[in-house]
Amino acid sequence: PQLDPAGLDFGKMDGLLPCVVQDADTAQVLMLGYMNEAALRQTLKTGHVTFFSRSKGRLWTKGESSGHVLKLVRLGTDCDNDALLVLARPHGPTCHTGTVSCFRVDPPALEMLGTLERTVQGRRDADPHGSYTARLLQGEPRRAAQKVGEEGVEVALAAVTQGDEELLGESADLLYHLLVVLALRGLRLEDVVTVLRLRSR
Ligand code: AMP
Ligand code: ZN
Ligand code: ZN
Ligand code: ZN
Repeated sequence: PQLDPAGLDFGKMDGLLPCVVQDADTAQVLMLGYMNEAALRQTLKTGHVTFFSRSKGRLWTKGESSGHVLKLVRLGTDCDNDALLVLARPHGPTCHTGTVSCFRVDPPALEMLGTLERTVQGRRDADPHGSYTARLLQGEPRRAAQKVGEEGVEVALAAVTQGDEELLGESADLLYHLLVVLALRGLRLEDVVTVLRLRSR
């Protein structure tokens, strides 16, 4: 990640910049912390998100005792260089209370797709006896491909012959199996969205 700490405006809040941390895959907002210049430099150097903790009175690498680190993906500033947005991959719950996010607000529903993708990818080495996803990922790839075809046909049928509930259910089946097929090829939803983004120019 490219960012020159010298270009930031640390003057406004006692040398601290408010720093919103967002999950790089699901877009869920995870926490708010404060970085001074040393915390930012350490974050850039180590790739582990580090704040200045006002209560501890020192640099604080998130996860330093719990192991629930935030791995830096990229970061940037706001319009007037006095706030940071940090995209990170959390290893474990970000809040010390054990929840994914420190914020007590239901995230936008689309967060679920990224969370489901993460679950699917995590099933790669799981025991196939207890997991349908693991069976699809570890079995014959044709099976997963066939499921996408079936679910696609079911979506098409539901769209013209059935009610909203059926169409939504079949759409969910299709999205899930699409994630499995992508995971089998080592691809991500983000790669698909990148194609859409290029097309929408
Ligand atoms: P950790 O950085 O996860 O090893 O946690 C160390 C200590 O930092 C915890 O005992 C809490 O006091 C504090 N802490 C951890 N996570 C958060 C958070 N998301 N927001 C505020 N304080 C936190
Ligand atoms: Zn600003
Ligand atoms: Zn918290
Ligand atoms: Zn179906």
